Amino acid sequence: MRPIVIAIDGYAATGKSTTAQGVAELLGYLHIDSGAMYRAAAWYLLQKQVRHIDEENLPELMSSFSLDMERRGTEMLIYVNGKLLRDELRQPEIGILASEVSGIAWLRERLIREQRRLGEKGGIVMDGRDIGTVVFPQADLKVFMQADIQARVERRYKELIAQGIPTTREAVEKELLERDQRDETRPISPLRRAPDARILDTSHLTIPEQIAIVTKWAEVLIYAPSPS
Ligand code: C5P
Repeated sequence: MRPIVIAIDGYAATGKSTTAQGVAELLGYLHIDSGAMYRAAAWYLLQKQVRHIDEENLPELMSSFSLDMERRGTEMLIYVNGKLLRDELRQPEIGILASEVSGIAWLRERLIREQRRLGEKGGIVMDGRDIGTVVFPQADLKVFMQADIQARVERRYKELIAQGIPTTREAVEKELLERDQRDETRPISPLRRAPDARILDTSHLTIPEQIAIVTKWAEVLIYAPSPS
């Protein structure tokens, strides 16, 4: 039995983070939500009320940004400059800004270094956009999650309403499509399926079904006899 690295990539609102967390709980692994790290950077910038962000001014704007991660059970808590961030990170405007700043090489390099450090010993499930392609190209198991746009809209709409964030299905659809477009077309680390990733279409799956499928794939690898 060996601790493996599980990379889950895919489109927004396909259930990546919830699936990754569920798989981590069943396997006793650590779940790292890499999107939350980009969201943490966006949250910091929004606090500073910056209007214009580019490759030139980002290092200066983020000179006093400090990101700390603390393991609690199978979850990773995120602190920015000592403040624990949870629901704050789920706000739609944070997702949009995260997608904008995630195209800046300086920030990606910094966060990717941190992600590799967190995952170096294995026993992790990391979800994001470039985990199987860039962060851990040698990951033992790569999963690429996709779903029909209507299924994704419904999922994200219900999530936001449950959190008390007022929105409409039209607004959610517009935000998801814009984010897909930006994530897929950016020059560095674009959202792309690794050639060796298994596709998981979640349009007609429940969260427990998604978790069960990925866990089964992982267990086959974890319990495989090690090569002698
Ligand atoms: O997954 P989540 O919706 O929280 O991610 C927010 C944004 O952060 C994404 O739209 C994407 O632009 C960016 N991101 C990224 N690479 C990752 C994870 C997230 O570029 N590994």
